[in-house]
Amino acid sequence: MIPIKLVGATSKAARPARDISEAAGVAAKYLQAGALNLQALPPLSLYIHFPWCVKKCPYCDFNSHEAKDGQTFPEQEYLEALRSDLEMALPLIWGRKIYTIFIGGGTPSLMSAAGLDRLLSDVRTLLPLDSDCEITMEANPGTFEAEKFKSYRASGINRLSIGIQSFNSGHLKALGRIHDGNEAKRAVEIALANFDNFNLDLMYALPSQTLEEARHDVETAMAFKPPHLSLYHLTMEPNTLFAKYPPALPDDDASADMQDLIAELTAANGYGQYEVSAYAKEGHRARHNLNYWEFGDYLGIGAGAHSKLSFPHRILRQARYKQPKAYMEQVRLGAPVQEEYEIGRADMGFEFMLNTLRLHGGFDPKLFGERTGLSLNAIEKNLNAAEAKGLLYRDYKLIKPTALGQRFLNDLQQMFLDG
Ligand code: SF4
Repeated sequence: MIPIKLVGATSKAARPARDISEAAGVAAKYLQAGALNLQALPPLSLYIHFPWCVKKCPYCDFNSHEAKDGQTFPEQEYLEALRSDLEMALPLIWGRKIYTIFIGGGTPSLMSAAGLDRLLSDVRTLLPLDSDCEITMEANPGTFEAEKFKSYRASGINRLSIGIQSFNSGHLKALGRIHDGNEAKRAVEIALANFDNFNLDLMYALPSQTLEEARHDVETAMAFKPPHLSLYHLTMEPNTLFAKYPPALPDDDASADMQDLIAELTAANGYGQYEVSAYAKEGHRARHNLNYWEFGDYLGIGAGAHSKLSFPHRILRQARYKQPKAYMEQVRLGAPVQEEYEIGRADMGFEFMLNTLRLHGGFDPKLFGERTGLSLNAIEKNLNAAEAKGLLYRDYKLIKPTALGQRFLNDLQQMFLDG
């Protein structure tokens, strides 16, 4: 990656343009000639980060911070910051429609119904949304109140992603979650009453979890007939409490058995696995996540949010200030973007493959040129090497990881490091 600039408080790119001609000036910088040649821009998604939770979970490495007394956070101030942040970013996405929106965290369902309504009306005022825009909100059991979720739906949220993790109260306690098994079920019932499109997040290979307990969790989840399931292996992320004081986890054989069991149960119940951790009923793949995995564009606003934005001759990455207080302060100063760089030609193949190889169905080779602005020749030797090792399948209309490639995905992805 080529760091081209650390955006400071005086950057034109990061402070609101005063008028249309200044906005055009900001955009012009990114529209100059460059190393790439993109024929068309990819679909554009919007990510909105909400950085507070009731309590920090010991395994979590997301940008989440405990709310004061578990529930107090500066909602109005943050919503104002989000609106200004979006206004400042507009010149970079001028004229482009938003294809999906994802409000993630943290625990966005801590937001009041009025707060969420204000957020979505700000977004609608500032951006043109696709008529079929998928608008997802992450929600955690323990914050589910029926009336609030009814209002979220009325405000325009049309998909919920619920962080269930487990229905087993003992395991939830070991994970430091604020909800128990009954609250997990109640949350799904409230979701079912208000949303026809929702995802349940579950984790497996939990501290002292047995195969039968993992089976019970997945079967309980499927009994609610969720259109989408995300099934994650618990991992010990650096800089978490679990990394410092690791709990006793199922060994590799036991977690491989859980993985096999998940494959069997999901397939038997009509869920297609289309990505490392994602399973969906026909027609219910997560369009927002698919846009990430297909190397689409996203504007991320809010504390610590990341963006990937394409222009005809360059692809830009940005990261915003992470700490909520610093972020809101930097928005006031007109410079919420802490880091910005162009993806260099040498890194493009790896960045594209890092995402697309997660897709079990692979991708059309034409997508490489469309999304990177480079010819497939740029990664030809890497593709050949991966194919020779039996990790990759390719023909003229498809490139995808083989079953072996899915199993050794990290190794396969790393083969594109020098693409
Ligand atoms: S609720 Fe989710 S985002 Fe918040 S601390 Fe726990 S795992 Fe992290």
